[in-house]
Amino acid sequence: MLFFFFSLLLGLIALAGIVLLVRPLRYIFISRPLLKIYRKILPQVSQTEQEALDAGTVWWDGELFSGKPDWNTLLSYPKPQLSTEEKAFLDGPVEQLCEMLDEWRITRELHDLPPNVWQFIKDNGFFGLIIPKQYSGHGFSALAHSEVVMKIGSRSGTAAVTVMVPNSLGPAELLLHYGMEDQKNYYLPRLAKGLEIPCFALTGPDAGSDAGAIPDTGVICRSEFDGKQDVLGMRVTWEKRYITLGPVATLLGLAFKLYDPDGLLGKEKDLGITLALIPTNTPGISIGRRHFPLDAAFQNGPNSGKDVFIPIEWVIGGREGVGNGWRMLMNCLAVGRSISLPATSVGAAKLAARTSGAYGMVRVQFKMPIGRFEGVEEALARIGGNTYMMDAARIMTAGAVDLGEKPSVISAIIKYHLTERGRQVINDAMDIHGGKGICMGPSNYLGRAYQQVPVSITVEGANILTRSLIIFGQGAIRCHPYVLKEIRAANDSDNVRALQEFDRALIGHIAFSFNNGLRCLLYGLTGASHASAPNKTSVEIAGYYRQLSRFSAAFSLVADVSMLMLGGSLKRKEKLSARLGDILSMLYLCSATLKRFEDDGRPVSDLPLLQWSIQDALYRMQLAFYGLLDNFPSRIMAWKLRLLVFPLGRAFSPPSDELGHEVAKVLMASGEARDRLTAGIYVPTSADEPLGILELALQCAEKCEVANLKIRTAVKAGQVSARGGEKITEALDQGIITSTEAESLKEMKFLRRRVIMVDDFLPDFS
Ligand SMILES: Cc1cc2nc3c(=O)[nH]c(=O)nc-3n(C[C@H](O)[C@H](O)[C@H](O)COP(=O)(O)OP(=O)(O)OC[C@H]3O[C@@H](n4cnc5c(N)ncnc54)[C@H](O)[C@@H]3O)c2cc1C
Repeated sequence: MLFFFFSLLLGLIALAGIVLLVRPLRYIFISRPLLKIYRKILPQVSQTEQEALDAGTVWWDGELFSGKPDWNTLLSYPKPQLSTEEKAFLDGPVEQLCEMLDEWRITRELHDLPPNVWQFIKDNGFFGLIIPKQYSGHGFSALAHSEVVMKIGSRSGTAAVTVMVPNSLGPAELLLHYGMEDQKNYYLPRLAKGLEIPCFALTGPDAGSDAGAIPDTGVICRSEFDGKQDVLGMRVTWEKRYITLGPVATLLGLAFKLYDPDGLLGKEKDLGITLALIPTNTPGISIGRRHFPLDAAFQNGPNSGKDVFIPIEWVIGGREGVGNGWRMLMNCLAVGRSISLPATSVGAAKLAARTSGAYGMVRVQFKMPIGRFEGVEEALARIGGNTYMMDAARIMTAGAVDLGEKPSVISAIIKYHLTERGRQVINDAMDIHGGKGICMGPSNYLGRAYQQVPVSITVEGANILTRSLIIFGQGAIRCHPYVLKEIRAANDSDNVRALQEFDRALIGHIAFSFNNGLRCLLYGLTGASHASAPNKTSVEIAGYYRQLSRFSAAFSLVADVSMLMLGGSLKRKEKLSARLGDILSMLYLCSATLKRFEDDGRPVSDLPLLQWSIQDALYRMQLAFYGLLDNFPSRIMAWKLRLLVFPLGRAFSPPSDELGHEVAKVLMASGEARDRLTAGIYVPTSADEPLGILELALQCAEKCEVANLKIRTAVKAGQVSARGGEKITEALDQGIITSTEAESLKEMKFLRRRVIMVDDFLPDFS
């Protein structure tokens, strides 16, 4: 009987093998039926969605999707570096700008940047960071752009947004890529020198996240314009809101849908989304009113226009640009989204990390620095680990842009994860600071950053949407080695070619999935001890590469099965898609973190930060897998996948308490690891600055550690009986501490008081 079943099984396997290997049979029994199913389950993709999917490039994300990332490739990417000129700009004009910024005055009194700051920004070319030198800009690298925004962001959210927007997705970036020569020659130098203030208007009351649905329209016509008759152009009507720099802009970048009912340009009547540059003093435009985004003082407001005539030359790219607006936006979004919000989030996180560690050491309760309490230590560890990983991802992604990539999926990953982690870091910092973070005033260095978090969560793709719909949705199609080929074949109207192409992609896909499934099981059973790691790495971290190889294989397998079983409905199953996106994102963040550690020369003092952040991410990936499989619609398939991915059950735990303790120590001690973690932010040295005082207080607290211990021991032994400040005098009199130590202790009392005090005001806040 057993022999019979065994023979039957072998026979079935052989039959399947023959069907797979003999092409005509494969066409009949596998490829053709599957192509039919594929065509049915393929999600309906609109033109705008298709252009979004096609935008940008695939980089390291493609390796992660392959299930077999080549770590040597990762480490062969050059370490992103600043040029001498870029460093000089950061140490010169950026430092000076930061010194000039007083966020309290800006947000509370002026509700705007002061005129001298506006002028300084314009005069020093802050609006032309990305504009090439030939057009009078700085022509900086993406890394330098990111460093500038990060540093300003650590000082003033208002100034950071003001500088960030003209350098992000907007007129300059669009002109650089799609502008006609005369448009570039005219506008780019003016933008670089601050002679024009740009804004870019896409969002309106009815089109927020669904930006492709803008109801704003332009109709091609001929009209009298600027004293000339019969000028070819369009009448545009729009209503936009939330537009940054809008109220003070001189140049409005506008997105609208263009129609040509009279066929003045050709046969096509519905021309599609089009972008134009319109001087804001053009008759018919209403602009200048302001929104008030959570107490921030950057310029932001609505604008509208009714039947505003603009000549066709104002379309970005001229006639060629007509109808290509969405493609332009999606391509430029990949770069802008890779830099701006990640940089501001990291700036705020570094500020939070530097101040929370110092405050944890300076603030004493229950006779102990609060940072030494385990509860506070936990929050400090999260701040340290998250900030380390966030900065690593910021740098690696800016480096990718400098290599010429337009990493669309990666830009969505870091936009979402860096703003979310930034939110976590600032929340933790606020908790650690207690009332000190809550009471607003000139000495509160955290409150405004906390208030501004929702802005970065919402703009450039609101976070819930980015996580649920974009990261995996776009990743699956762009980064997967076979899915795009299959989709293209399925959409091919030539049935013979479609079948051939589909078959070729399918065979590759089957081998790919089979391979991933096998490796996944093997890694699960062996703890990934033989998975790949780079040739040149250290023993402390080689294991992390192996675990990531394991998760990459598991991710590819589960992603494949999810797509196969759920097809187009995966687009609606946002909770599943979000978890798949989380796993892909965590793989990227971990890659960046390991690369950072290697690029920095594997500093031993950074090890706790590296270990904490990677262990936390591995644990989170496991949670995402379990969450996905627990909710997978097919219970049998979920069971099989769990057996393949976690054959021995759960394998990862969160970082240990001891590791968290080590991370907290890094944040609480002045030194190279803390400086490296918070490198590039603005740290004033003046004792008149809240941050300057905090730095001095931290150094003094460290100096007083030994003397404090001596006094505590003496009090316990009954050698010192005095209370409060008298203890210092008594300990000095008795020779328990030296006079230098006594001086430091007295200075500490003074500095601590300055650090812990908050602002108060007259009853009417005047
Ligand atoms: C301060 C500020 C500055 C801005 N600057 C500019 C600018 O300069 N130019 C410009 O054009 N726009 C700008 N915006 C607009 C910004 O891009 C939009 O606010 C953003 O696209 C979200 O649109 P919405 O606010 O209408 O939210 P909605 O689209 O109404 O979304 C509300 C919530 O629903 C979620 N959601 C929506 N659809 C889905 C989905 N399919 N799946 C899951 N979740 C979903 C979103 O994630 C969000 O959480 C700015 C906005 C703000 C607040």
